[in-house]
Amino acid sequence: MKLARRAKILGLVLKTASRCNLNCTYCYVYNHADKTYRQQPPLMSDDTVDHVVRRVGDYCRHHRSRSFQFVFHGGEPLLAPPLFYQRLVGLVGRSLPAYTRVRYALQTNAVLLTDAWCQTLGELDIRLGISLDEAAAHDQYRVDHRGRGSYEAAVAGLRRAQQHPALRYYPGVLAVIDPLSNPRQFLEQLLRLEVRVLNLLLPDGTHHVPPPHLPPGTTQTPYADWLIGLFDAWFAMPAARRPRIRFFQEIISLILGFDTSAVALGRTDNLFLVIETDGCIEAEDSLKVCQHGITKEGMHVRLHSLDEALDAPLIARCAETPPRLPTACQRCPIGDVCGGGFIVHRYHPGSGFDNPSVYCRDLMKLITHIQNQLITSLPVSFVEKGYWQPVSFEQVLGVLAGQTYP
Ligand code: SF4
Repeated sequence: MKLARRAKILGLVLKTASRCNLNCTYCYVYNHADKTYRQQPPLMSDDTVDHVVRRVGDYCRHHRSRSFQFVFHGGEPLLAPPLFYQRLVGLVGRSLPAYTRVRYALQTNAVLLTDAWCQTLGELDIRLGISLDEAAAHDQYRVDHRGRGSYEAAVAGLRRAQQHPALRYYPGVLAVIDPLSNPRQFLEQLLRLEVRVLNLLLPDGTHHVPPPHLPPGTTQTPYADWLIGLFDAWFAMPAARRPRIRFFQEIISLILGFDTSAVALGRTDNLFLVIETDGCIEAEDSLKVCQHGITKEGMHVRLHSLDEALDAPLIARCAETPPRLPTACQRCPIGDVCGGGFIVHRYHPGSGFDNPSVYCRDLMKLITHIQNQLITSLPVSFVEKGYWQPVSFEQVLGVLAGQTYP
């Protein structure tokens, strides 16, 4: 058993803009329980940036951090002007110790991504992540403030970023799963768009506000069924043609026993803190779906160091290292891989976070499927040396119902 230790802060998610040019129906910032964005300044000020960079410099010197990441996020971070990022990157370069390698990333809906932006972001060595769902789902959910879909504009932005000579890194894509879409068509879409790196998000949801298509008490597993369809098509492809799908790669690594960090599965030793446009330091951003104001704990870059922020109760809960498995998951034969699921998906107002994921059955079905597929594809001698054994979805359900695991 790993001993508990203080979490290492891997980086900050900087909310550089609190408003967005789109109004995606599933967005946790605007269209779930929390409405605190209304009190946020639209953009992060230079004064707040100065405090943030000073706090990061203090943290890196104190912990002799070899690396630190800034993830620019919103709202839509391209609503802040290029000069904002040029100033911030310059200040970081002058303020952080030379031994700290700094990496930058920016997550955008790509609608505002012009060639001039690509030039600026490339010069600042900022990597791009672009939000892009399955085409029809994208136009249905990722809409502007007049309800119009944004798929075409997002694809144009993706193409621009892929082709711009100033951007050294190929953009990654982040997609929210729509279980009503066709996973094989989605894979074909990725290949057509030459996407090389993809990550997948399960829609936000909790035990009291369940995700779409997952009503309370259902025994259906629409997300597992969709993900298994995608996994099987992806796994059958020649390795050289496969895009990297991080969600699957993390599950495979965990099954093989690697100490992989996988936030979406509740398996992370590395922590990102969120800084709002007004300078408040907060825990995981999407916790906002749990209840209004839940991430507000009175921590602020003007008043508190990053280490002090780790003592705020919700931040401390997210920073537990190693992460605590929910009580009901302790008997689960795949608990080491699943980790109880993403912390947001465990929430219930009555019992907090000590619950299995609202996606429990979906995760169980997906992980057992991937484990069994791996076992049949690996050389027998390799499997025999490991501790893997086939385990079915029904067997895991049986164990959790009190049956003995063979
Ligand atoms: S599959 Fe369900 S019971 Fe098992 S660890 Fe995940 S959430 Fe817990």
